[in-house]
Amino acid sequence: GAQIIDVNMDEAMLDSKAAMVRFLNLIATEPDIAKIPIMIDSSKWEVLEAGLKCIQGKGVVNSISLKEGEANFIHQASLIRRYGAAAIIMAFDEEGQADTLARKVDICTRAYKILTEQVGFPAEDIIFDPNVFAVATGIDEHNNYGVDFIEACRTIKERLPHALISGGISNVSFSFRGNNPVREAIHAVFLYHAIKAGLTMGIVNAGQLAIYDEIPDELRQRVEDVITNRDEGATERLLEVAEKYHGSGKVKQKEDKAWRSLAVEKRLEHALIKGITEFIEEDTEEARQQLDTSVQVIEGPLMDGMNAVGELFGAGKMFLPQVVKSARVMKRSVAYLEPFIEQEKGKDEISSNGKILLATVKGDVHDIGKNIVGVVLQCNSYEVIDLGVMVPTETILQRAQEEQVDIIGLSGLITPSLDEMVHLAKEMERLKMKTPVMIGGATTSLIHTAVKIDPEYSGASIYVPDASRAVGVASTLLSKEQSGGYINRVKVEYADARQKRSKQQQARNLPPFTDAQANPTPIDWQSYQPPIAAKLGIHQLDEIALDQLIPLIDWTPFFRAWELKGRYPKILKDAEKGEEARKLFDDAETMLQQIVSQKWLTARAVIGLFPANSCGDDITIFKDEKREQALTHFCFLRKQSRQGSGRFNSSLTDFVAPKSSGKKDYLGAFACTTGLGVDEKVAEFEAAHDDYSAILLKSLADRLAEALAEWLHLQLRKEYWGYASDESLDNNALIHEEYQGIRPAIGYPTTPDHTEKDTLWQLLNTEEATGIWLTESKAMAPAASVSGLYFSHPEASYFAIGKIGKDQVEDYAKRKGMALKEVERWLAQNLAYTPE
Ligand code: SAH
Repeated sequence: GAQIIDVNMDEAMLDSKAAMVRFLNLIATEPDIAKIPIMIDSSKWEVLEAGLKCIQGKGVVNSISLKEGEANFIHQASLIRRYGAAAIIMAFDEEGQADTLARKVDICTRAYKILTEQVGFPAEDIIFDPNVFAVATGIDEHNNYGVDFIEACRTIKERLPHALISGGISNVSFSFRGNNPVREAIHAVFLYHAIKAGLTMGIVNAGQLAIYDEIPDELRQRVEDVITNRDEGATERLLEVAEKYHGSGKVKQKEDKAWRSLAVEKRLEHALIKGITEFIEEDTEEARQQLDTSVQVIEGPLMDGMNAVGELFGAGKMFLPQVVKSARVMKRSVAYLEPFIEQEKGKDEISSNGKILLATVKGDVHDIGKNIVGVVLQCNSYEVIDLGVMVPTETILQRAQEEQVDIIGLSGLITPSLDEMVHLAKEMERLKMKTPVMIGGATTSLIHTAVKIDPEYSGASIYVPDASRAVGVASTLLSKEQSGGYINRVKVEYADARQKRSKQQQARNLPPFTDAQANPTPIDWQSYQPPIAAKLGIHQLDEIALDQLIPLIDWTPFFRAWELKGRYPKILKDAEKGEEARKLFDDAETMLQQIVSQKWLTARAVIGLFPANSCGDDITIFKDEKREQALTHFCFLRKQSRQGSGRFNSSLTDFVAPKSSGKKDYLGAFACTTGLGVDEKVAEFEAAHDDYSAILLKSLADRLAEALAEWLHLQLRKEYWGYASDESLDNNALIHEEYQGIRPAIGYPTTPDHTEKDTLWQLLNTEEATGIWLTESKAMAPAASVSGLYFSHPEASYFAIGKIGKDQVEDYAKRKGMALKEVERWLAQNLAYTPE
């Protein structure tokens, strides 16, 4: 992960000039290296210059200084300038190296003046190195070296505009040679302060950086005292504890190999709990040798180990990512045993807690949650038959009967899937099936299960809110003693929920749609001019670099997908979940690097921006600025429930200038994906029995898709529509959508009707432009895709349409030119509307 490669050939036995040239020429042919800037490092000018002649792109010279006087300095700097490189300027002058704050600042200031005023060297190509020296050496004069460097950074940053600052970080800890944990702690603390003061780069061993917050408190406190030179006793106090941390691995956990000497069952258990695959095959083989059959390995030590995992997870002592890693160990072991089991013809003998069929319903492509549930169930000794995504009801029921499964688990993320689940419940009733059904996925809910699914099926349909509950529900359903009572209790709970809801609905009768239309969001169009769009039309973006999306990732939903609930970055420090959250985050960052560098995924997007005006509750898209010929129109719903004073029956159409106002307004639309390539890579992971990486990749692809949507929106505001060209929000503000304008997603609460996506797909020619296609439920495939509409008005905001009446639905169907029944079917999914 180096950001610059420093090349140094100054070794006594080398012909450093020849070696420099040869080495630079060799690495120039290595694509991964050639991308990165090169820092030519030598104390000999002729070596530096020879290097400068080799490198392509912009390099950095390390280093020149005023050591040999001004004339020499100017000469070298001019040449560096001609070669187009930046340069590190050491804080040296004719008298030697700068050790105090005043000397550091004086020399740098003098060099800056010469470079910018006499040489014409761009200030942003100057990198000062104000000399890092060792602290805590036992010599009192050295105690302030850390502070001097840090303060020099601060002053240079303030006084010498655009100049950058670097340093050789490991010097600072030189007196603790041989005690790496302490050295790493010193580096971390030193960097922490120096970066805050303005240090822009540093030479470090990137693989040996401790995290400031992870340094044990006692050690950190004492290092702080040394670096900040708080008092005279600081060095002494650090020395007192230094030995304690030496080799203790407290700063960077060293792997403890003691478990390797345990008995083989214990080793298998340890590997399962810790998710270690490294020795799994040799340990499995050893266990196999000791037992009579291979099946006994599974049923004995492996099951015991998994039971331990299951218990820890159930008790909240393990978290989901760990369980998924345990499953990877289990699967590797089973895969190793499989050929032996075949030979022994013992496959049918493996006992399980029960057979569970899992499927994402027809029309839906989302399966992260379902896959996680599958892994967790397998970890608890259930046999899982996973039918994948977009599985039609007939297939699900046929396989359930053929395989005589004990439970059917249904998953879905978008609202049309809810309808599929209702359909499946009806079919099961018709076929007189009795198999319990577990319902899960983002839009499923207890209320939907109670109101829509349960009444259709006399068997059990149980809403399971997250993967951690799946095992409890499954084991209760399959327990002879508990199952009956449990199902009865749930049925009663659902009946109560239905009753409560119908009471609420009676109490909340809706005003007529015409009243709602008479109370729109008040926007004074006469005194507002919508921003004129800079680049109308359709823009296809194919070459989107993934690495620029990473800073825009919203991590909180990522942790939620892994059932680690809490806000990022706070969750990384959480007393309970922090450690696992950090490991997951580390794995995520490593995989993101691979996704980017090995091009696992391709990002594609299309943006459209069109002249548009609202016409009643529709928005008309015009062919051109003449606004005479309509290309198409989007239909919207309006909040219909009674609003208190000062509140409105909003519709998204309220945020676009009405045709009658005579104002020119616009509507944007977009679709984007980072899901191209996911399936191939996931297949590879699954073939290697690595569910953890498969699920991790899918969850990261989703994050990148959302980040891409954020990035696109920024391009829209700054460039395509161009109404916020001077916007300057940091990534955090972007992630929290603190800008002007919104991008409502179709199928979400302000636009609950998924079929409007058809209009968007036609308008932008989306499938051809991006490869994203719509399933019969209007789910976007690949799953890591986002689409929506752009509104620019400063007051535009997200809201929920909520409950609507038949009068509005009739009007809406007419505007859409769609049969009432059909429209009702799509709207009923949101529980917003109940057809009679
Ligand atoms: N940073 C988040 C972004 C997605 S959630 C992430 O990475 O997951 C916010 C997005 O959801 C909005 O940009 C919008 O596209 C959609 N959204 C939220 N509320 C909505 C609503 N009420 N109606 C329509 N779309 C909505």
